Amino acid sequence: MANTDGVMIHPAVDNGIKQTDSNFSGGVLSCHCSTNPVKVRINAQTAHNHVCGCTKCWKPEGAVFSQIAVVSRDAVEVIENEDKLEIVNADAPIQRHRCRDCGVHMYGRIENTDHPFHGLDFVHTELSSEDGWSAPEFAAFVSSVIESGVDPSRMDGIRARLRELGLHPFDTLSPPLMDAIASHVAKSSGVVSRAAPREEPPATAQSEEAAGSSATQGAAAASAPQPAETGSIFSKLLNRLFGGGR
Ligand SMILES: [Zn+2]
Ligand SMILES: [Zn+2]
Repeated sequence: MANTDGVMIHPAVDNGIKQTDSNFSGGVLSCHCSTNPVKVRINAQTAHNHVCGCTKCWKPEGAVFSQIAVVSRDAVEVIENEDKLEIVNADAPIQRHRCRDCGVHMYGRIENTDHPFHGLDFVHTELSSEDGWSAPEFAAFVSSVIESGVDPSRMDGIRARLRELGLHPFDTLSPPLMDAIASHVAKSSGVVSRAAPREEPPATAQSEEAAGSSATQGAAAASAPQPAETGSIFSKLLNRLFGGGR
């Protein structure tokens, strides 16, 4: 086991993770401006909170990871100083709205209705003074911290520390989120019916189950596409969905 002494991940988890309050129903996020901060009310509990190693999510000064959760876009309401918000990159799959004075990202929104996560906004719960937000559950895009300058030799310590905190390190997203993306892609690309054996009559609509098992079937069949090819297609897809390194 790698030495985890002094390995810092993010201020919200380094000294222990605050637990989820099951009765919590939202709070107000404030940017870091000391005067006229942008305030965003989140009218719901968040979900899939996690630490993220990508180069696109906003992170506090000095942190190696960001901390980010999703919430229904209907629950996100800018209540003060909306005029200070600007979109970091309007062409990115996730439009991150940041305060132009302090640079803090207040929410990330997906406008493409075909995106698997359309309808969900990305928010940083640490911007709220309230306790009870859904606790971080895993670490995403862990290898991407190297892209932001972390020396590869530190990765063993970082992954060990994440495991110690109970934040399983993934180099993409967590299995439930990856399954959600794959199911969405399988449905929209019609891969479900193509995965059915040719001799058989077309399977009746059981799209999610069929999509989930198609990879296994493919690997088992000698003439099926190679898993490596699937992997590279998937990396390209992630790139398209989240931008470089998300
Ligand atoms: Zn600000
Ligand atoms: Zn990220």
